[in-house]
Amino acid sequence: MKVTQILSTAALAGPALGSTPCCEGGDYDVIVVGSGPAGIIMADRMSEAGKKTLLLEQGGPSYYITGGRERPGWLNGTELSRVDVPGLYKSIFANGGDLVCPPDVVNAFQGCTVGGNTAINAGLFFQPPASDWDLYFPESWHNADMQSAISKVRAKQPSTDSPSLDGKRYLQSGYEAAKQWLVDGAGYADVGLNDGPEDHQKTKVFGHPIWNYEGGQRSGPAKTYLQSALQRPNFSFQTGTKVVRVIREGETATGVETSTKEANGTSSICVKKGGRVILSGGALLSPQLLMWSGIGDPEILTNLSLAGHLPMPSPDWINNTAVGDKVFDNPNTFIELSSEAISSFDYSYDDPTISARDLYLNERSGPYTFASQTSAFWNFIKQGDDLVGCQGTIDSSGAMDFTKNGTMTLNVYGTSGLRSFGRVGLDDKGIATPSGGFFYSDPRDAQAVGTFVHGIFKALPPTLKPLNIAGNSTLEEVVKWISTPSPYTLGNVQHWSSSCRFETCVDADTRVIGMDNLFVVDASISSPLTTNPVMGTMIIAERAAERILAL
Ligand SMILES: Cc1cc2nc3c(=O)[nH]c(=O)nc-3n(C[C@H](O)[C@H](O)[C@H](O)COP(=O)(O)OP(=O)(O)OC[C@H]3O[C@@H](n4cnc5c(N)ncnc54)[C@H](O)[C@@H]3O)c2cc1C
Repeated sequence: MKVTQILSTAALAGPALGSTPCCEGGDYDVIVVGSGPAGIIMADRMSEAGKKTLLLEQGGPSYYITGGRERPGWLNGTELSRVDVPGLYKSIFANGGDLVCPPDVVNAFQGCTVGGNTAINAGLFFQPPASDWDLYFPESWHNADMQSAISKVRAKQPSTDSPSLDGKRYLQSGYEAAKQWLVDGAGYADVGLNDGPEDHQKTKVFGHPIWNYEGGQRSGPAKTYLQSALQRPNFSFQTGTKVVRVIREGETATGVETSTKEANGTSSICVKKGGRVILSGGALLSPQLLMWSGIGDPEILTNLSLAGHLPMPSPDWINNTAVGDKVFDNPNTFIELSSEAISSFDYSYDDPTISARDLYLNERSGPYTFASQTSAFWNFIKQGDDLVGCQGTIDSSGAMDFTKNGTMTLNVYGTSGLRSFGRVGLDDKGIATPSGGFFYSDPRDAQAVGTFVHGIFKALPPTLKPLNIAGNSTLEEVVKWISTPSPYTLGNVQHWSSSCRFETCVDADTRVIGMDNLFVVDASISSPLTTNPVMGTMIIAERAAERILAL
């Protein structure tokens, strides 16, 4: 077990306060900004290739192994933080502690900690279908090109659809009800949801969720790739360090300007001549970093400059309106369902039942070995010549006004092929703010999601009743309901992506257009995927590492 290495801030070369920092040539071959899944993979692969690599993360520790100690009392005396225990997932929405980004960092619900959002998410780990790469990614990123990246992620990142170490599956009444409905009734195929890596499909499939857990605990890149990077003498990891901007001389990134809570003012960390800077701050914060580095929409750069946040004059800007444009999140709908056959289960942060607690602590078994989802399913809905991906994920309990025993929640998302997008702008303090209200701005998208819901409703058995919408609603009624604001509709899933797209924001090597040695590798460069984004984002990072190392 290796503990995260923190460099002292005194090791950083600092410019005079208030001046624009410059970099004369430092030690590092590569600086990676952000320890989310993509950043960790980039840092691991760059250091493995012999590059002297520095990974910078603004947040602090998360998993116990990284120094994280935030946890409820029942974990005292263990080597577990709240992050390690999958069943504590939902508590992040009530009390995010130090793991979530504060409002002066980003205007959205996001993880700012070692592992990024993989330290606070549900751990659902689904391979995107081959069609995502073939339809929505550029040449050299199609399914055939992605095979080695897919194999590398599968080889290095454990995952499971049966997380309890006693081999039993828990909370299966909801799974059985959903299977009867969707497999027996609606004709979905009951499959292993990551089966068939080479020509992977997610068309009309249903199954047990797959999570990136190991040994009854949350795994993820911070437990896998980061640990191998930390073994190398040419790798350093510095937490609590925010990168304010990339320092550049024209088209060359020479280093990064950083700030820490302890230090007054900012410092600079420089790359060697010929070195590289890779931004992996996530789909909201990488565009912010580009803008603060004078790369972006000139209107936004003008405002940033007027607010005193941009040191370089406008002739030094790289104007590109694609930075932050067409950001995507899944439009979410909660459908509450009830059946006498379902036993609901609520996860408690402080006070699990004695049997659930003991099963977890003594055997890494029971309901706390997973984050509450009991099944997942996908289909594609034809809209004109296009196919729109739709996903359903079923939870172990009801929500909001429907929490009696016997209820469960179906989350329905629209996914790949949707056409409604927002934009990452900056508020008056220069903080990333995704535009709201863009869901279903293309009416075709609501039609697709409505058709998906209407299709499965037609197969509802009489024993299973939707509680917040009538099960016999017409297609028009479903489309109207999902598009009308309510606590159950038009919700964000916080799966932000697609804010720095291929061909307009980065080239096929993930290099920022207009720059020589500055790259973006994270969910920003991904198109909207059919699946929850982490596994796809990790595959993208593996592919990006291959491309960058080949330059
Ligand atoms: C509540 C929640 C649940 C989710 N559930 C799932 C799920 O079950 N399955 C799934 O596949 N996806 C899920 N997601 C989405 C998924 O976790 C993200 O899509 C994914 O983590 C994005 O990876 P990334 O590499 O782009 O960076 P991120 O995970 O966004 O991480 C970026 C990191 O960079 C750091 N950073 C940013 N800017 C700077 C800076 N200037 N200086 C230093 N550090 C910086 C941040 O602090 C952060 O740690 C969920 C997300 C949330 C919020």
